[in-house]
Amino acid sequence: YTKTIESMQRSLILLKPDCVQRRLIGEVLSRFEAKGLQIVGLKMLQVTPELSRQHYAEHVEKPFYQSLEDFITSAPVVAVALEGLQAIGVVREMLGATNGLQAAPGTLRGDFSSSRQMNLVHASDSEASAERELGLYFQPEEICDYSLCLTGFMR
Ligand code: ADP
Ligand code: MG
Repeated sequence: YTKTIESMQRSLILLKPDCVQRRLIGEVLSRFEAKGLQIVGLKMLQVTPELSRQHYAEHVEKPFYQSLEDFITSAPVVAVALEGLQAIGVVREMLGATNGLQAAPGTLRGDFSSSRQMNLVHASDSEASAERELGLYFQPEEICDYSLCLTGFMR
């Protein structure tokens, strides 16, 4: 029991502008739900250059940063707080490699992206980044703490 509680994690997912533009929001959310991950926070927003610099702080000095900022601010994104057992690692596995051309078939990027920049989805890569990124997109009261009682809704 204790072990189960300890491996419960929350991760910050972003459905990037290409995902929204290609009308793949439902498709991507379905995959997470089918896997057994629970949506505990959800909103659409426009990323500003300021938020982009915070989100991608580790990349701000990289040569591809300006192009990444132009992309991530080009259309709305959907921010999702996902909860589940080992959610951070599980979601990263579901995304596949960063470059859609290299991502394995069966992964979200492998199935839907052929680009190293427009790769559909962002997901936190560690507990520290999940904590930080959830704070960038959600106020504490915007995260819902609820348990799934599936049987009550299946009648
Ligand atoms: P990940 O999203 O898999 O954690 P990174 O943290 O390395 O990947 O990069 C962040 C994002 O920056 C990527 O998801 C992608 O959209 C973009 N990106 C990464 N590398 C490049 C590159 N060489 N050229 C253009 N965009 C890139
Ligand atoms: Mg990364």
